[in-house]
Amino acid sequence: MQYLSTRGGVSPLSFTQAVMMGLAEDGGLLLPRTIPRIGCETLTSWQDLSYPELTFEIMSRFIDDIPSSSLKDIISRSYSTFDSEEITPLVHKGELHILELFHGPTLAFKDIALQFLGNLFEYLLKKNDGKLNILGATSGDTGSAAIYGVKGKERIHVFILHPHQRVSKMQEKQMTTVTDANVFNIAIRGSFDDGQAIVKRLFGDIEFKNGYNLGAINSINWARILAQVVYYVYSCLHVIKHEKDSSLDFTIPTGNFGDIFAGYIAKKMLPAGTIRQLTLATNSNDILTRFVNSGDYSLDSVKITSSPSMDIQAASNFERYLYYLMDKDTTKTTELMAEFARNGALDLSDYQEQIRRDFTATSISEEEIAATISNFFKNHGYILDPHTAVGVKAAEKYKTAGVPMICLATAHPAKFSEVVSEATGTLPPTTDALSEILETKSRCKIMAAKDEDIREYIMEHAIK
Ligand SMILES: *Cc1c(COP(=O)(O)O)cnc(C)c1O
Repeated sequence: MQYLSTRGGVSPLSFTQAVMMGLAEDGGLLLPRTIPRIGCETLTSWQDLSYPELTFEIMSRFIDDIPSSSLKDIISRSYSTFDSEEITPLVHKGELHILELFHGPTLAFKDIALQFLGNLFEYLLKKNDGKLNILGATSGDTGSAAIYGVKGKERIHVFILHPHQRVSKMQEKQMTTVTDANVFNIAIRGSFDDGQAIVKRLFGDIEFKNGYNLGAINSINWARILAQVVYYVYSCLHVIKHEKDSSLDFTIPTGNFGDIFAGYIAKKMLPAGTIRQLTLATNSNDILTRFVNSGDYSLDSVKITSSPSMDIQAASNFERYLYYLMDKDTTKTTELMAEFARNGALDLSDYQEQIRRDFTATSISEEEIAATISNFFKNHGYILDPHTAVGVKAAEKYKTAGVPMICLATAHPAKFSEVVSEATGTLPPTTDALSEILETKSRCKIMAAKDEDIREYIMEHAIK
């Protein structure tokens, strides 16, 4: 399988090259040249596969430059860290199927992709005798998933900046209690935006970036999307086995358009009609909902909500969908992204019909989130985290009688215990891992939010 840039400025790449490049060198995003189709017979033959077996079947259709035995080994190690044998178990509550994606080490769905990406990086670096220094800024959740993805891995050091005393105690502990020698937590005296700006500027210094093999681990890496396609197919197989229907719907709480884009790819791969509708659910940061409902893709200021991992305006994976919407026309895609960079807005109302065939969308208010957590607990005795609640509320709005609805549960409620206990009146049950973390010693370097200081620290501690 060859990989191409949405902006057409990169010659075809292998899967390995695409993973190591991350962001395409022409500023675009990388995508496979074609999306492989899965026929009904093949799908039926996958019915009884375990999660890792299914992962291998799907991934091997996109990867032809890693030997099967190595790929199987990477996959098996990546999912051995999950606390559920099913990896992504489905639970049936009322009219909804809840797909629990939070059984990985940091209790959020990003583990599913980042556990895999960490092992994949380690394998590829060993094969090519490379080294990698991962640098990222986090407002809380992505940082811990990235750290758990690469902790203890050979040939990789990871530097994660978080705003000192401006992340929750639990988030801070999740990151700083990882004391493997290759993990460097840096608390900067500043905001998340300061951290992100420092990282951006350091990446912009090409000599520094290349000299120290700096790499990113954010959701623009194709391997992350690929790992997320699997649980869509997995849950289709499990729900269709129990219900005679051959068609179902998904609702996805969305921020950077990564998770829902994986659903879009799954929809293209599976026999027509298997996935009938993808509902995109946003919190008060509703740029993507406005885009689907009226073609208005325009930036607004970021609103702080109870679902912080979705407090995003410009969605980093949006360009991938735009490329398909433009019928793979890289010139048009490039022009539109340049226009968006200039004006912070795009009018795509001419494409309304197609967009609405691909997605349904709705935005959920803070009051609705709290009420959904409260009502769902009253009616089903099941505690939703605020991100999952955004999806569940949207699913209740768009559920069609007779068509199964799967809601993606993206975080464990214990990660957001304050919001949850306020809504339900009880503290969500914590997990062994989380209570242990609160008792564990942390290690973290507190530093000024200054480019030069951070640069020097990286130069001193980078793997060379
Ligand atoms: C990252 C995240 C999301 C949003 O996922 P995207 O791929 O950015 O759309 C939703 N919920 C949780 C808990 C997350 O960590």
